Amino acid sequence: MEQTLVILKPSCVERGLIGEVISRIQKKGIIITGMKMMQLDEKILREHYAHLVDKPFFPGLCESMMASPVVCMVLKGADVVSVFRAMTGVTNGRKAAPGTLRGDFCMSGQANIIHASDSPENAEIEIARFFKPEEVFDYTPANVSFIYATDELN
Ligand code: UDP
Ligand code: MG
Repeated sequence: MEQTLVILKPSCVERGLIGEVISRIQKKGIIITGMKMMQLDEKILREHYAHLVDKPFFPGLCESMMASPVVCMVLKGADVVSVFRAMTGVTNGRKAAPGTLRGDFCMSGQANIIHASDSPENAEIEIARFFKPEEVFDYTPANVSFIYATDELN
């Protein structure tokens, strides 16, 4: 099954929203295969946000991402990259649809509580950036046959 990388940003951790986000992930039937707290630094953020290093908001973005520890997660599921991006909502929390995590829990285009990989290719790169192989647990929960039809499992 596909995997994706999620970061619960300082705007999630500091506001006490870790549990809300994890609760929605689990209620959806998405499997958590890796989870840890980390303090990010500028080196890893320059890699992770390489597409944004030249933007005027990059210093502020780095500062906001280093303001407290973050929670990094690896999620597993069928089509989980696109499923979780849809659950996350668009970048700006003020424009994100109600019912999405950003739409329900934030008001900012920067302090927008979550990072989620945007493609299966980037998910693989990002998982390797934030997790050692032994920190990701490829287990299958006992209830999986109630989450998927047999022909949806592979
Ligand atoms: N960001 C920002 N200002 C902007 C655009 C993005 O501060 O105008 C921040 C925001 O925290 C966002 C992150 O940079 O989540 C990564 O931007 P990207 O365009 O990849 O958005 P995402 O994939 O997180 O929706
Ligand atoms: Mg992005």
